[in-house]
Amino acid sequence: MYGPTPSANTIRNAEYANRFFIYEVEGLKQNEVTDQSESPIRKSGSVYITVPYNRMNQEMQRITRMGGKIKSIKPLNGSNNHSEQAGTKTASKSKTAMSDTKSKKKSDVPVNTYKPKNPLIGKCVENRELVKEGGIGRVRHLTFDVSDSELRYLEGQSIGIIPPGKDDKGKPHKLRLYSIASTRHGDYGDDNTVSLCVRELVYQHPETNETIYGVCSSYLCNLEEGADVTITGPVGKEMLLPEDPNATIIMMATGTGIAPYRAYLRRMFKEKHDDYKFNGFAWLIFGVPYTANILYQEELEEMQKEFPDNFRLTYALSREQKTADGKKMYIQNRVAEQVSEIWDLIQHENTHTYICGLKGMEDGIDEALSAEAEKHGKDWSEFQKSMKKAGRWHVETY
Ligand code: FAD
Repeated sequence: MYGPTPSANTIRNAEYANRFFIYEVEGLKQNEVTDQSESPIRKSGSVYITVPYNRMNQEMQRITRMGGKIKSIKPLNGSNNHSEQAGTKTASKSKTAMSDTKSKKKSDVPVNTYKPKNPLIGKCVENRELVKEGGIGRVRHLTFDVSDSELRYLEGQSIGIIPPGKDDKGKPHKLRLYSIASTRHGDYGDDNTVSLCVRELVYQHPETNETIYGVCSSYLCNLEEGADVTITGPVGKEMLLPEDPNATIIMMATGTGIAPYRAYLRRMFKEKHDDYKFNGFAWLIFGVPYTANILYQEELEEMQKEFPDNFRLTYALSREQKTADGKKMYIQNRVAEQVSEIWDLIQHENTHTYICGLKGMEDGIDEALSAEAEKHGKDWSEFQKSMKKAGRWHVETY
């Protein structure tokens, strides 16, 4: 569905340099290869050998010299079924291989299928409130029907919405971006919808004290079911999930920053896929003011209950919970409290960390991790840089 375009071949070749392949070889005995190969796995008549891209030719020659015949060559991260059959040795190799590559081949990611000049007209089929009584503000879960369109997207991407009407200069409103809150298959599992999680922006004008409603967010929050909506995108490659089903995924969110994580978690725990059976560890640290503001609370807690070994759910409720020294519990305080465990997890090459939500939430998280890094004699900014370089540190704040 997301096949690379021919023009992307150069990028793909560069990415292959970091990848591993599995050779299925017949006619060899296991002990003929164990001494020299990275991780040969025996299954029935075949031997499976994991080969780094830069050793593919030598390995082919060696196998031929030993009288072996290569039956198939498959990219390691494209063969999860094989990993399962082949056992833990291949699985742990898979972790290394995956962490060597960026979280997803960027050429496979759909972008800008619809632009402001040729937008997609979707239809609102659901618009429900997520904040319960006693909570602050309005946050709506919206679903748009996009059937009969070319819109395809991945978890972690965003779409643009163009609100109707004109701005104060008489020009059509510009698009606003919103993180997609559904998986690529949509909330109804039929590949025909896309969902958002939208907070209505309301503030008092600093000079006139007038109540101002954000143009696009209030348009969306008040959208009638059945109404048309103008959509662009998808966009974004920063927040994609790694393909490795054994990865550790640490997610930190404030408010609507939960949107991409809802998509990840549904992909991990609610949907069934042949090519992605999540068996890693997902940890969501979610900051909101009150319990009533916990967006998607029921579905999150249901998943946590069903998959307690694979999913940890930690809240930071700033107006209800207090830190040990009596301060409000913001997300950065919760991170500080759990930082030694987070530090241990991010040492592993298959751990990905995501930050999404309010601008400004990064500083406190950096502070907590800096202090922990120092305890281990490391410099946090250097370590963070290395995580970014490896495609393991993902941030989307707004
Ligand atoms: P506008 O009418 O555009 O008003 C915004 C402007 O109001 C600001 O630029 C500022 O000038 C002013 N303003 C705002 N607050 C104050 C204040 N307190 N005092 C004075 N002036 C103020 N939003 C979501 O709800 N959910 C999402 O999932 C989401 N995902 C996003 C993903 C990305 C990648 C990005 C970049 C943004 C995302 N946003 C999301 C934010 C969204 O794009 C809009 O910015 C938001 O909805 C406000 O748009 P608006 O048209 O309602 O406000």
